[in-house]
Amino acid sequence: MEGERYERETLIKLDDLSKVYHENPVFSRINCEISRGDFICVVGPSGSGKTTLLRCLLGVEKISSGFIYQESDGIRFTYVPQQPTLLPWRSALENVVSGIFPGVSDPKAQALEILKLVGLVGKENALPRQLSGGMQQRVSFARALASAPDIVFMDEPFSALDEMRRAELGRLVFDLWQRSGVTFVMNTHSIEDASILSTKVWVMTPAKDRTGGASLRVLDTWPRTESFDSRKASDSQATVRAAIEREISVVAA
Ligand code: ADP
Ligand code: MG
Repeated sequence: MEGERYERETLIKLDDLSKVYHENPVFSRINCEISRGDFICVVGPSGSGKTTLLRCLLGVEKISSGFIYQESDGIRFTYVPQQPTLLPWRSALENVVSGIFPGVSDPKAQALEILKLVGLVGKENALPRQLSGGMQQRVSFARALASAPDIVFMDEPFSALDEMRRAELGRLVFDLWQRSGVTFVMNTHSIEDASILSTKVWVMTPAKDRTGGASLRVLDTWPRTESFDSRKASDSQATVRAAIEREISVVAA
């Protein structure tokens, strides 16, 4: 797998990171890191601060205290939002071209290649409104990968889809991740998704009394080379699931 030799290279380190909104602590003193090749799933109940944490990592939200270190220069990242935000007057292909890093010799050919990867051959000239929600989200993934990022951040990218499409896209995202060697960080409220897709799970656990902010615990789940099917078939999936649930129930208690 490409990128395997970089697996332990730290890209981003969070050091005692805290966020407070108008005196309401969202999360407090988070310590963790993102390494190259990780697939990190961030889980936690609604309101636990997943989106806020992602926004801090993306640099669009101010942090209140602590540090976010980029361990090497020029780390590039992209973002896949909950709802696809494609340019409505541009075709699927043009939307992907718009994500391609400037200077690429044949952006159209490259965009076509990526559309192929996400299973949209034959749809390149369709406008977003002519595509289903699941297909639009595929274009969104393609656009995010087009810029050859180091990290793709995703905020509940399957939440607007029905169960069939969710399962399909989960598998697709997994394949894209394993093939590309790109690092993925995905917010999800699905323990099922987290227990199959991840190499690590960050569990956001709100403080019991709500006066403090949420804390974050890291669980190591799967080695990156383990295939989707063997993860699904393995007894270990139940173990991973139980470990996440145990962590979350600590919160509920
Ligand atoms: P999650 O994504 O896990 O559902 P959020 O990060 O959206 O959680 O929200 C975490 C907490 O921060 C919630 O209590 C929410 O009300 C609060 N919050 C989020 N955005 C803002 C904001 N712009 N101003 C004030 N409070 C906010
Ligand atoms: Mg959210």
